Amino acid sequence: MAVKPGLDYQRARKNMVQEQLLQRQIHDPRVVRVMGLLPRHLFVDEALAGLAYTQATLPIGNGQTLSQPYTVARMTEALAMSGTEEVLEIGTGSGYQTAVLAALSQRVFTIERIPALAELARQRLRRLGFHNVIYRMGDGTLGWPEVRQFDRILVAAGTPVVPENLTNQLTIGGSLLIPEGDEHKQQLLRIVRTSAENLQREVLENCRFVPLVGAQGWREAGRPPSPGVGGKEGGQSWWRPERGGEKPFEQRNRHERVGT
Ligand code: SAM
Repeated sequence: MAVKPGLDYQRARKNMVQEQLLQRQIHDPRVVRVMGLLPRHLFVDEALAGLAYTQATLPIGNGQTLSQPYTVARMTEALAMSGTEEVLEIGTGSGYQTAVLAALSQRVFTIERIPALAELARQRLRRLGFHNVIYRMGDGTLGWPEVRQFDRILVAAGTPVVPENLTNQLTIGGSLLIPEGDEHKQQLLRIVRTSAENLQREVLENCRFVPLVGAQGWREAGRPPSPGVGGKEGGQSWWRPERGGEKPFEQRNRHERVGT
């Protein structure tokens, strides 16, 4: 149900928690509490504020989107944070997911490649009193080299291959959440560093995100193409670096999907 401007956002948030989180098996009480308090309608354009607590994926400008509440909750819950973690987020977008992470961890380092989005998110989060967020504009597939390691990494865009720069920045016991696949469908992966040499990889569910564009993600049209496969999405072309022996995606039930 959309909220009419001026009506009760608190009530809409309560319904969102009940119907989209609790009834869909989001169990972490810290995630539920934060999302029940955070004013999601302040992270989208005023004209869309009435839809902020619905299941809709909302446009945030520059062809990008804010994921539906369930997706944000699912990804945050899958990171299993206790509050002491240093978190790297790739794809700040509107800043909503950043705010959820910042409320549940020690500190968030967030990277966004589109300057206008990065600046808006920074302003919103400052206004809401989040002082444990460090912002960067640029290509998140390169990681954050000045900080050696992170306890958690969340990537909010789909990649053809998992960037090694990111797995290299995981602490032992740390986990990376990332959608991997083609431009239409991805699988949400949780990659855990179990030792200095070993990574454990687990598929959580099917999902669909906007492309992760960068040196270790999709190549933007017009950039020197590496050998690979071409794709087209929203009128724009993308290049996927070559990979061998990859299985095609299984067709799965729509309800299993999370994502934008
Ligand atoms: N979680 C965000 C929110 O709460 O609004 C939405 C993220 S949106 C689905 C994905 C974001 O990733 C977009 O803002 C896009 O510009 C950004 N992005 C894509 N490739 C990137 C890259 N290489 N580095 C940093 N940001 C990137």
